[in-house]
Amino acid sequence: MVKVRMAAPVLQQNDEVAKENRELFREKHLFVLNLMSSPGSGKTSVLEKTIERLSGRLKLGVIEGDIYTTRDAERIEKCGVPVVQINTAGSCHLDARMIKPALDDFDLDTLDILIVENVGNLVCPAEFDLGEDARAAVLSITEGNDKPMKYPLVFRESQVVLINKTDLLPYTDCDIELMEKELKQINPELELFRVSARINEGFEPWITWLEEQVKIKKN
Ligand code: MG
Ligand code: ZN
Repeated sequence: MVKVRMAAPVLQQNDEVAKENRELFREKHLFVLNLMSSPGSGKTSVLEKTIERLSGRLKLGVIEGDIYTTRDAERIEKCGVPVVQINTAGSCHLDARMIKPALDDFDLDTLDILIVENVGNLVCPAEFDLGEDARAAVLSITEGNDKPMKYPLVFRESQVVLINKTDLLPYTDCDIELMEKELKQINPELELFRVSARINEGFEPWITWLEEQVKIKKN
């Protein structure tokens, strides 16, 4: 059974709690990643493939953000990693105040990396600091070429974009080179990885990136 936490109102300011979370992650040398995207981009599928590859290499925990259901958390639990579900009870993003109590459900000393799958939403999750070390956005090619320019904040605030569903390129009008060019215009520092969770392709450079971040955080 997936452990579920209902988000409860907390009066403290989000940024204060984010700072406390960040301090705890620093003490524990734990690398924390905030994974964001619109609904249907394949965030959970990307996460499943990531967990598969990291198994035996790094100890991973997952926080699943969802408005109502535990469906994603049940999928992640099948991958054999500790997972806590946060149901936001209507809120369309996670904030630091929801993350903090959920941290009690993990043995943080045994983890190398904690991945937070945010609520599927390309807009406001990027506005809330969770105390994380890095942000990765999943953008699927079926969402359309206009998405980076229409929703720039999430890409400006991320270190990585995983361009997913590349196996569907022949069946869409997506111009992936243009997509990458516009992402770089929004944020020249972005690391871009082309992946397909469906056919399980392109993940190794992303895994290498994650392993490097964990190594940096350990030192
Ligand atoms: Mg999901
Ligand atoms: Zn929101």
